[in-house]
Amino acid sequence: MTRSQDLLRSVFGFDAFRPGQAEIVEAVTAGEPVLAILPTGGGKSLCYQLPTLMRDGLTLVVSPLIALMRDQVRALREAGVAAGALTSGNTEDETREVFAAIEAGKLKLLYLAPERLGSAERFLRRAGVGLIAVDEAHCVSQWGHDFRPDYLRIGELRRALGVPLAAFTATADEETRGEIVTRLFPGLEPRLFLGGFDRPNIHLAFQAKDKPRAQILSFAAARRGQCGIVYCGTRAKTETLAAALSGDGHLTCAYHGGMGAEQRRDVEARFSREDGLIVCATVAFGMGVDKPDIRWVAHADLPKSIEGYYQEIGRAGRDGGPAETLTLYGPDDIRLRRSQIDEGLAPLGRKQADHGRLNALLGLAEAQGCRRQKLLAYFGEDAGPCGNCDLCDTPPETFDATEPVRMALSAALRTGESFGAGHLIDILIGKTTDKVRDRGHDSLPTFGVGRAYNARQWQGIIRQMMGLDLLRPDPERRGGLRLTEIARPVLLGEEPMRLRKDVVQVSDRPRVRAL
Ligand code: ADP
Ligand code: ZN
Repeated sequence: MTRSQDLLRSVFGFDAFRPGQAEIVEAVTAGEPVLAILPTGGGKSLCYQLPTLMRDGLTLVVSPLIALMRDQVRALREAGVAAGALTSGNTEDETREVFAAIEAGKLKLLYLAPERLGSAERFLRRAGVGLIAVDEAHCVSQWGHDFRPDYLRIGELRRALGVPLAAFTATADEETRGEIVTRLFPGLEPRLFLGGFDRPNIHLAFQAKDKPRAQILSFAAARRGQCGIVYCGTRAKTETLAAALSGDGHLTCAYHGGMGAEQRRDVEARFSREDGLIVCATVAFGMGVDKPDIRWVAHADLPKSIEGYYQEIGRAGRDGGPAETLTLYGPDDIRLRRSQIDEGLAPLGRKQADHGRLNALLGLAEAQGCRRQKLLAYFGEDAGPCGNCDLCDTPPETFDATEPVRMALSAALRTGESFGAGHLIDILIGKTTDKVRDRGHDSLPTFGVGRAYNARQWQGIIRQMMGLDLLRPDPERRGGLRLTEIARPVLLGEEPMRLRKDVVQVSDRPRVRAL
C-alpha cells in the first residue's frame, strides 16, 4: 500500500479515492502548481489535507466560508490532525491557542479567512508555511458572482512566501479558469485537473447473487483468453474461485494480503507480462498494477463503498478499448458490510457516513435507470443515459409499489422511526415475535397488513426504498429507519412509487390489502 493510500484509510477513514483525487494528491504532494476543478461534493478538501500530511511545514488554507472552515477544523482534530482557523468567528481563546500552536511549530493546517490576508503576511513568513491551498478559487474572478477582493492578495503572498500553491473550485467555465491562472499563478503554468471522470469504454453491470460461482464462471467463460480480475470479499474465496476457474480451463492465480511478499510480487509480475491471466484477489491487488489492457473486472462480492467500486472497475480498459464489468451482490454482502461498519472503531459520524456510502452503492445496484448516470451523479457530474450499461441495454421491469411502500413507511413511522428492517418486516407480515409482543406492536393498525409479500420480498422492497433514500438508517437510534423528506408525499399517497420487479420477484398483480 502506498503512503497516501495508508493515510487515506488511517486518518480519513476512506477505503478508496474518489475520481481525480489520487492524481491531484500526487501532484500537490510533489509541490506542483495545481488548479483542480472538482464538482461540489467531489472531495476537494482531501486534495490538500492529505498532501499536507506527507509534506513538511504548515499548509495555509484560504477559504471564504467560515462555517465550513470550522467544520473542517473540527473534523481534522477528531482525526488527530493539528488544525486551526483564524476567522472573525474565533473567540480570543481560540485565536491564542492557534498562535501558540504555530509558535510551537505544531500546527499542520491553518485556515484563514481572506480578510485576514492583508495583516497576516509578516507573521506567515515566520510560521513555516510550506503550501498554500485556495478553496473556492473562483472568488478571485471579477466576473463571477462571488468575487472577493481580498483574494487578489493571494498571488502576491505566494510570491512573497515562495511556496507552491494549489487552487480548487467547482466552477469550470473557461473565462473563470483563465482568470484564476493569471491572478493566482502569475508567470506559472499550473497543472490543470478538469473533471470528466467518466470512463465511457467500461460497460457496467450488476447481478443479484443467484448461483454466484456459476455466475462468475460464465462471465469468465464468455471472455476466455482475456485478462481479468475477480475481486473477492475474503482471502479464502480468492483461493476457491481461482481453483474453480482453473478447473474450467483458465489461466488463474489467487492474490491476497496473507500471501508472502515475494509470492505477491510474482503474481503481479506474471499479470503484467502474461496474456489472458485471471487474478482472483482481495482489494489488496491493483494499487501497484498498471496494466493498460485489462479487459474485464468482476466483483464476486459487493465492494465496500461506491468509491471502492469506481476505483476497482476503473482498473479495466485503461487503454481506452472496450472493457466489461460485473458486480454481484446479495443479502449476505449487505449484512456483512453493515456489521463491518457497526463493529468498527470509527466515531459515530464516520459510521453514519459509511452507511450512507454503502446505501449509495446499493442504490446503484438496484437502480431503475442508467447506472453510469447514477454513478456520475454521485460524484457530482451530470450526464444523460450512457448506452453502455446493462440497464441501458435492457431496462428493468418495474411495478406499481405505492401501496407496499406506504405500508413500510407507515410501519416505520408508527414505531417511532427507531427500528431496523427486520422488526418492521415482522410487523408487516404479522409475525408475533417477543420483541413485537413486548412493545405492543401487534396491536398496531399496520400489523399484518403486508402479508401479500413474504419476508424476503419485503427485504427487497425496503432495500430499494433505502436505495431511493425514502428510508435512512439513523445512527442516533442504533440504525433505526427514519423517513426522509421525500418519503412524506409518498406516505400521504400524493406520489406514486415504482420499484424493480426482479428484486421483489412479484407476480404481475400482487394481492395487497389496502391500508
Ligand atoms: P467539496 O469541497 O469538493 O464539495 P468535500 O471536500 O467537502 O467536497 O467532500 C465532500 C464529502 O465527501 C465529505 O463528506 C467527505 O468526507 C467525502 N469524501 C471525500 N473524499 C472521499 C473519499 N475518497 N471517500 C469517501 N468519501 C469522501
Ligand atoms: Zn447506461
